[in-house]
Amino acid sequence: MNIKEYFSSLIEGTHSLIKGMEVTGKELFTKKVTEQYPENRAELKIPERFRATLQFIYDDEGYHKCIACKTCERNCPNGTIQITTRMVDLPNGKKKMKLDKYIYDLGSCTFCGLCVSTCPTDAIEFSNDFEQAVFRREALIKQLNYLPEKEKPAPEPKPAAAKPAASADAPKVEPKVKVEESKDVQPNQEQKETE
Ligand code: SF4
Ligand code: SF4
Repeated sequence: MNIKEYFSSLIEGTHSLIKGMEVTGKELFTKKVTEQYPENRAELKIPERFRATLQFIYDDEGYHKCIACKTCERNCPNGTIQITTRMVDLPNGKKKMKLDKYIYDLGSCTFCGLCVSTCPTDAIEFSNDFEQAVFRREALIKQLNYLPEKEKPAPEPKPAAAKPAASADAPKVEPKVKVEESKDVQPNQEQKETE
């Protein structure tokens, strides 16, 4: 390395150092964003779309919309969801498959969201409750249908529509189509014997 190359690389290095220090220097004067967790738990703002854990959507009366179709289980790429079903008798005498247990393993979930986006009834969603740390892996396996199953009341039978009463004064309607006797049609056995 000659003297010219030496000074050239020295200038280049100094320029690079100043550029790096410029970024660091700016951060010295910008507003600090350090979260004082867990002290700030009460005012912590977690984005609504943050995917922390899968959960069932229950309405105010304790009903969920899962129809046990297992679409989410089939679409999950790593077997995180396991659904068991049972057959129940309906009031009309038919049988129907109902959800028994919806098991979700948070420890193996990659939060891809395929289960939620493919559910035909929008029965599941991701909660943004991020505090899911536990001491044992088994504690990450959850049953999502945790409320006791409630049967929806059977629909009220519709009252039968009253048929209009036949009136004696009503004109007798003759059938429009008159079946003509055909000579080609063979009489049945009883007619043959009578003749
Ligand atoms: S959560 Fe949705 S996709 Fe999964 S079994 Fe229930 S209805 Fe089907
Ligand atoms: S988010 Fe993805 S990995 Fe997690 S349960 Fe749903 S489909 Fe499976």
